[in-house]
Amino acid sequence: MKAERVLAGLSCSQVLASLTDYLDGELAPDARAALEAHVRACEHCARFGGVFAAVVRGLRERLGSAALDPGVGARLRTKLGAQLDAQLGASNERRDEPR
Ligand SMILES: [Zn+2]
Repeated sequence: MKAERVLAGLSCSQVLASLTDYLDGELAPDARAALEAHVRACEHCARFGGVFAAVVRGLRERLGSAALDPGVGARLRTKLGAQLDAQLGASNERRDEPR
């Protein structure tokens, strides 16, 4: 994705890929600090981090705070990636399928 930025040594998609690990507390302290520094400095992720965190937190609550299984994590990343694309390319508006 062209609009993504590299800050604190991380690109937005790397932040996205690390987010579930971050929320699970599984990132190494330096990776964690880099992710936090990126999100703080990156307007895309700043706008967006709250959405990620809310989605992941809600999901984990539903799962009884168990670690996400790989399938759920992959699906979440796909869905969040689509949202990231939609937000970064404002013209590329997508609708989530209704439930
Ligand atoms: Zn970013």
